[in-house]
Amino acid sequence: MKFIDEYRDAQRVGPYVEAIRRVVSRPWSIMEVCGGQTHAIVRFGLDELLPPEISLLHGPGCPVCVTPVELIDRALEIASRREVTFCSFGDMLRVPGSSDDLFAVKSRGGDVRVVYSPLDALALAERLPDREVVFFAVGFETTAPANAMAVFQARRRGIRNFSLLVSHVLVPPAMEVILRAPDRRVDGFLAAGHVCTVMGIDAYRPLAAEHRVPIVVTGFEPMDILQGIFMCVRQLEEGRTDVENQYARSVREAGNEAAQRMIREVFEIVPRTWRGIGPIAGSGLGLRAPYADHDAERRWAPAGEPEPRSKTDCKSGLVLQGVIKPPDCPAFGARCTPETPLGATMVSSEGACAAYYRYRRADPPCGSR
Ligand code: SF4
Repeated sequence: MKFIDEYRDAQRVGPYVEAIRRVVSRPWSIMEVCGGQTHAIVRFGLDELLPPEISLLHGPGCPVCVTPVELIDRALEIASRREVTFCSFGDMLRVPGSSDDLFAVKSRGGDVRVVYSPLDALALAERLPDREVVFFAVGFETTAPANAMAVFQARRRGIRNFSLLVSHVLVPPAMEVILRAPDRRVDGFLAAGHVCTVMGIDAYRPLAAEHRVPIVVTGFEPMDILQGIFMCVRQLEEGRTDVENQYARSVREAGNEAAQRMIREVFEIVPRTWRGIGPIAGSGLGLRAPYADHDAERRWAPAGEPEPRSKTDCKSGLVLQGVIKPPDCPAFGARCTPETPLGATMVSSEGACAAYYRYRRADPPCGSR
């Protein structure tokens, strides 16, 4: 499918659902990794069209949601400094830290600005040489090339008042954690098409082989997702565990090699802690030594030990691993709403709790599907 009249063609939905119904013979659980896919599934009610044998589990593919509270607290601390202009994508401003969010810092007079690209933040640094401009570099492999390019340009052009607070995470290590869980529930994956557009699909082959799990690289439109589910179910029913590419209009086997070179130039693989999941070895990107001058964490090393964090009722860690669905959380739609979020999965435009709140609020709890 290449064109919008193909992947949004409502006439094709029925035949595809029927094709899935014909091929399935027993229960299977399939996890869509990306929050963008989750939103499409919930918004268009795709899960409700599927035969009852198929359960869709929502995965950890929302970068805002998995940014750990410790890093949000670092962002709050840095953004509160008088000399700092702190730039971020809009979603991050509402994500709760231990006690506050970036909006609260802004309301207290902090110079916190929403930008649409790291290059906008770099341009701001050039325009404001007397300020320290910090960009909150959140995201998966998808946003890493642009963030790498901003730092690369800053170094090349001698813009010293620009730095990144880096919170980049990588998808395959998180999938591996889910596959290694003692109570593993996932039979197959829909991998995130935009991540694979950048990185290619090689990293998924060892995962599929070692854990005997089919992985279908899938796009974000309704027909992409139904086709991805069909391809995944067909593999499961045939006993195959291959990596297949549904999103061929965007994903090439080797990915975008120029973007990968830029990532390797600026970043190296580091351990990262995921909100709600915990530390995962080799699951993040950090700035390489030649770019350390542009590392906001180094520039403003924390003073003293971090304060112990208050406990939260938020169950987003379970949501992000597909163990529960948002309406199963007792706070959903009651104490936790987009206006009063207890967790990042209710804040982010890619968060599963936000998707259910927006499109399914009237539904009863749905732990069974
Ligand atoms: S509904 Fe709110 S409290 Fe519950 S898991 Fe989602 S974000 Fe956390």
